[in-house]
Amino acid sequence: MAEVYKISDINRLEKFSRRDANSRPPFFAVFGKPIAHSLSPLMHNAALAEIAKSDSLYEGSQYFAFEVAPEDLQSAIEKLRAKNFRGINLTIPLKERAMEILPDFDESAKSANAANTLLKTRSGWKGFNTDGYGILKAVETAFGIKPGGAKIFLIGAGGAARGIAVAFAKNGCAQILISNRTLKRAEELASEIRDNFGIDCKALPLGSEKEIPEGALIINATSVGLKDEDSPVLDFSKVPADAAFFDTPYMRGNETASVKAARKRGLRAESGLAMLAWQGAKSLQIWTKKKLFGKLMFETLKEDFYGNR
Ligand code: NAP
Repeated sequence: MAEVYKISDINRLEKFSRRDANSRPPFFAVFGKPIAHSLSPLMHNAALAEIAKSDSLYEGSQYFAFEVAPEDLQSAIEKLRAKNFRGINLTIPLKERAMEILPDFDESAKSANAANTLLKTRSGWKGFNTDGYGILKAVETAFGIKPGGAKIFLIGAGGAARGIAVAFAKNGCAQILISNRTLKRAEELASEIRDNFGIDCKALPLGSEKEIPEGALIINATSVGLKDEDSPVLDFSKVPADAAFFDTPYMRGNETASVKAARKRGLRAESGLAMLAWQGAKSLQIWTKKKLFGKLMFETLKEDFYGNR
């Protein structure tokens, strides 16, 4: 569990108050509520320690977790700006709220209508979204699949599914089939993707395994897989044997039931830890301009989750 701070700690704790805005080293943070479960401090601190080996500016750099509610986001980012914080990650429920209060975004945040990464600028904070990058890079690293021309079978139509659909559509995938428990939500998302990107996109109910094309990339973006007792999200016996399966949930100590079932069927399969690592690596690159530390961050998470297996 990450050590959790409150924004009121900023002025109280020596570790924050002894540094002024111009002193070194830079600090980083993640905001969310709840936040105690966050794995971001673990993987970012591992990467910052690696960066410090070759750049003394980062000696003593740290990444902290703060519990922040949406109504406190504005004052929280202002407080951190006055200290030596250079970058902030936002997680549930703050990514959309950031779009209402930030003065400046890049294209990645605009197209996702959500910001998960804030970079300190001369005038304030600038918003980015690295979630789309995280899924694309995780899939490419795990399976060698690039978005261009890919056939995506996406399960789910919530916030994560939307970000994933936009990332693949923007990067030239050939087709997206969206299968969701609530068909209406899948239809709304499919219509948005068709209208905005002009690609072949269709909504399907759950249990549409027979519609999965040969060579498809299947992505589970539902909450199925977060609990020990969850069953696989698909009947993998009906899935083409050359498909690849990416599960956005992840579970401490074990692979998800879906990843296990997919591998049993002989499919290539990977869990959401890889996506978490690569979105974090991209945020850290935006803040530090260093190379991507995705592999190190992924290894750090796997070591923590599964030990030496
Ligand atoms: P969300 O907006 O609440 O959407 C939840 C989705 O799951 C909806 O499509 C919902 O279907 C579906 N669902 C929930 N329970 C279900 C069930 N019992 N059977 C079938 N479908 C069910 O949540 P979200 O923010 O998109 O998150 C979805 C998943 O993405 C979570 O597992 C989360 O851990 C994962 N995620 C992973 C990462 C990462 O870095 N690895 C990042 C972000 C999110 P209905 O529309 O029918 O309700």
